[in-house]
Amino acid sequence: MSDCLFCKIVAKEIPAEIVYETGRTLAFRDINPQAPTHVLVIPKEHHADAAALAEADDGLADEVLKAAHAVAVQEGVAEGGYRVVFNTGAGAGQTVFHVHAHILGGRGLTWPPG
Ligand code: 5GP
Ligand code: ZN
Repeated sequence: MSDCLFCKIVAKEIPAEIVYETGRTLAFRDINPQAPTHVLVIPKEHHADAAALAEADDGLADEVLKAAHAVAVQEGVAEGGYRVVFNTGAGAGQTVFHVHAHILGGRGLTWPPG
């Protein structure tokens, strides 16, 4: 998708602080972090949201979740606890329509989220 911000990060057309990468996934720090650890994990392939990623049904959703956990371990937040958030749809606060998992940790996280 030529006009997609995260596809441009995958293509290295826009810089990002990449912290983890596999053949089909990429993880980079959120530009506006909401916690000491705030990393976005995306599939390199464009899918608009978590529903579309699940529909693809080719193991990619599984790879994104595995990458999310690997990032949490690498960032040192896996033991203390971390949150994986897929805002899905504008009503849930999704602003970038290339599916991404927010990995949040490094501070106490309240429930329910706002
Ligand atoms: P959403 O609101 O769609 O769930 O999350 C989009 C996230 O992307 C936001 O947390 C926002 O801070 C982050 N973001 C937006 N533009 C950029 C960018 O150019 N680079 C990076 N690293 N993060 C971005
Ligand atoms: Zn995209």
